[in-house]
Amino acid sequence: METLLLSLFVLAVLVLLFGYFYSTMRKKAQPATTFPAAWRPVLAEQSVFYRELDPGARLQFEHRIQVFLQTTRITGVHTTVEDLDRLLVAASAIIPIFAFPDWEYINLNEVLLYPDSFNHDFEQSGSDRAVLGMVGDGALNGVMVLSQHELRQAFSNKTSKTNTAIHEFAHLVDKTDGAVDGIPEVLVKQSYVLPWLQAMQKEIKKIRADRSDINPYGGTSEAEFFAVAAEYFFERPDLMEKKNPELYRLLREIFLQQRTGSG
Ligand SMILES: [Zn+2]
Repeated sequence: METLLLSLFVLAVLVLLFGYFYSTMRKKAQPATTFPAAWRPVLAEQSVFYRELDPGARLQFEHRIQVFLQTTRITGVHTTVEDLDRLLVAASAIIPIFAFPDWEYINLNEVLLYPDSFNHDFEQSGSDRAVLGMVGDGALNGVMVLSQHELRQAFSNKTSKTNTAIHEFAHLVDKTDGAVDGIPEVLVKQSYVLPWLQAMQKEIKKIRADRSDINPYGGTSEAEFFAVAAEYFFERPDLMEKKNPELYRLLREIFLQQRTGSG
């Protein structure tokens, strides 16, 4: 009897200790600050992606936004960075890789915001649309440059298929394997590499023949095609599913998106 009581006592102590250490560990994995409540309605209003998440996934999304902001500098050049900008940059970063819980942008240290389009001679691996966004190369490796005006515009516009910030983060994802070539090897399962490559080449031909609803800019190269298709996929998923079911299905596999209500 005494032995049994002693065992129960020891067991109880162990459970308490485990509970204590577990909660401490969990606390350490949390961001240093709580997610600003005022950001939630902004996300719900401006991000289709966030709106479609269930409550548990929304919390994870918010958590990852905070971790991103704690590890990435966002600097204004001739402009002031406001909370809204920080929120939208972080959302654009998390959207493409949300299904990959351990993802970190190892190739990004800082995002520079310019008031509007810029056309300085940046050393760059990709500059887009005279120039609303770019991913730096060479001396600017680890730097992304975005137009602040375009960043805000893209999120407040409900009918556009474009979102330059998501586009640039798609390039960064693509760049993680070393080559910006339209095939992000880190995301695309081996069995999808060939189907994706074929789908890209087929659609690029259609773009060049003016028979596609994909932004013509995607016809310039496979790298641009991937980024343009990604922003379309995340901004207007329903439209893409209707107009380009094959591309839509492949992108769902690549980004591991299992949307409810879309089959
Ligand atoms: Zn691009």
